Amino acid sequence: MAAPKRLINVRRPEVMSLVQEDVRQYQSELVDQIRANGNVLELPGLYLRLASAFGFCDGVKRAIEIAYATCRMFPERRIWLIGEIIHNPEVNARLDAMGMRHLPWRLDAPEYAALTSDDVVIMPAFGVSIPMRRLLEEKGVLLVDSTCGNVVKVWNRVRTYAAAGITSIIHGKARHEESIATASHSRGESEQGNFLVVFDENDAGLVAEYMLGRGDRTSFMQHFAAACSPGFDPDIHLNVIGIANQTTMLKSETAHIQELLRAAVIERDGSDERFHVFDTICGATQDRQNALFELLGEPMDLMLIIGGYNSSNTTHLAHIASRRVPTFFVKSADCLESLSCVRCYDLKEKQEVVRPLPPEVSDTGRILRVGLTAGASCPANVIEEVICRLVEIRDCLAL
Ligand code: SF4
Repeated sequence: MAAPKRLINVRRPEVMSLVQEDVRQYQSELVDQIRANGNVLELPGLYLRLASAFGFCDGVKRAIEIAYATCRMFPERRIWLIGEIIHNPEVNARLDAMGMRHLPWRLDAPEYAALTSDDVVIMPAFGVSIPMRRLLEEKGVLLVDSTCGNVVKVWNRVRTYAAAGITSIIHGKARHEESIATASHSRGESEQGNFLVVFDENDAGLVAEYMLGRGDRTSFMQHFAAACSPGFDPDIHLNVIGIANQTTMLKSETAHIQELLRAAVIERDGSDERFHVFDTICGATQDRQNALFELLGEPMDLMLIIGGYNSSNTTHLAHIASRRVPTFFVKSADCLESLSCVRCYDLKEKQEVVRPLPPEVSDTGRILRVGLTAGASCPANVIEEVICRLVEIRDCLAL
């Protein structure tokens, strides 16, 4: 007999009123003031302009509130998070300090064997895969679901594809939690549905070439070995395809991938009848990308991008900015050690490096123009700390 589902709603009015106090730490009066001032902060020697959309999205706010509400409701129990609630080191460190435990994403990890029905497990904003959810239900733990509604929309779409025999082509990162969960849903009720995860335009180009009979099966399968459904056969499963995306991908890249694959289907079939598409980039991701493009329309000496290095939407913001202006992708204020020493994430090297700020920063005789934005998982208090640190190292108050 299947174990009873034990899904708990922790967003109860009496709990949420206490949680509002808990999450006040992630707000910032300074950031609110800058917003009210047309997103501009002007100080001697500094013109700082914030993007018109940045920082916490509704899905992240909700997930964090759910984590705090769970702690309020079950102070005596062991509370587990699967991976991280969101991809922000500041938020995660604060939850850890409250005693939050972590379950790895590997189903065979020993932590799962030790779970009991007294344990509470929070599913993160990106959701969890179907096999993981089943395992947790079998364990009889109390489940708290913080999956963002925008992620659930993608799951609904890929399940529809599976029911219609359409292979899901997921534009995403094969090892990102959200794409892992979406891929599991693309198997559908029958668990026979198929998926292929394409990371970028290069991957999509390989798929298009294969559909047009110009690919090599062995090298194709080697390339996508860790990014396709069990038993995936490119000679069968690329016949009818439907596109979906991880909610936080780069909008322009997703659009290119869609057009590339649509064109391949048309070239192969003479029509796009066997091509389906549903844009699942979430509104918050789009808003932050659009706001950054608008901000980059102004001349800037440098851009600061704030967020966790493993945050997909923040990484895309850094990519966009770095094509136009010297860009520093930092996770917190302490990355700004001095004008000549900034610890920042290098998108090519995929690691934190140390770089000096551009030489203009040291020129006290001119106004330094800095653009700033932050990913959807970055709290306002961290943004405030970065701004204050910039003001400090630029020595604005002494100019
Ligand atoms: S970035 Fe989008 S999908 Fe992710 S939590 Fe925020 S609103 Fe939801």
